[in-house]
Amino acid sequence: MEYALQLQDVVKCYQDGDFQKMVLNNVSLQVKKGEFVAIVGPSGSGKSTMLSITGALLSAEGGKIMIGDTKVHEMNQKEWTKLRNDKIGFIFQNHQLIPYLTAGEQLKLIQKISRKKDVKLSVDEMLEDLGLAHCKNKYPEHMSGGEKQRTAIARAFMNNPDLILADEPTASLDGERGRQVVTMIRQEVKKRNKAAVMVTHDERVLDLVDTIYRLENGVLTKL
Ligand code: ADP
Ligand code: MG
Repeated sequence: MEYALQLQDVVKCYQDGDFQKMVLNNVSLQVKKGEFVAIVGPSGSGKSTMLSITGALLSAEGGKIMIGDTKVHEMNQKEWTKLRNDKIGFIFQNHQLIPYLTAGEQLKLIQKISRKKDVKLSVDEMLEDLGLAHCKNKYPEHMSGGEKQRTAIARAFMNNPDLILADEPTASLDGERGRQVVTMIRQEVKKRNKAAVMVTHDERVLDLVDTIYRLENGVLTKL
């Protein structure tokens, strides 16, 4: 079977003074199309590092990373950029919206950058799907925390990515808003048969994912 995402024995070290600190110790993970995975684990255990490597933002010292049949570990920086634009949608902890663009404009920008001309998603439909129609002409400073994070999610979906990566997407939201946001990721995964990996501290949303892994001391284990 073809997986949407495979990590095989991924190793990542950081230099810590005179020491080499191993943050990821032969991490392996397989995610199917239509599967929503959560990664939990203590702060500093390498969750963001793992997500950055998975999303072609950071290189590893060893191991293989495959997105569909694309071998990420064999690509150069330029190919990584194209891969990110074409196949990956990122959602960060602090929405990271562009302050001088409205919600509608943030999505249009991604639509323009995306190369998948054949399967262009509609900005209005995406805003509608995420309950953001009323924010189309609003700037981030005039939106609530939940609206901003939903806009960031809409933006991540806008290039119709095969793989959605979310790093603590509920961290700045209250329980209800957090749940709403994770529900939306789940709906997108199921509606369009995507794969998603979400790093989270939030135990209250774990019932919304299909599989839970724990990362601790560089080792990833299925729960
Ligand atoms: P998490 O997301 O689980 O909190 P991180 O992936 O951010 O963990 O960090 C894992 C460990 O690697 C931490 O000990 C952190 O201090 C260290 N680390 C992260 N980025 C760097 C870096 N660029 N250089 C050196 N050490 C780093
Ligand atoms: Mg982190």
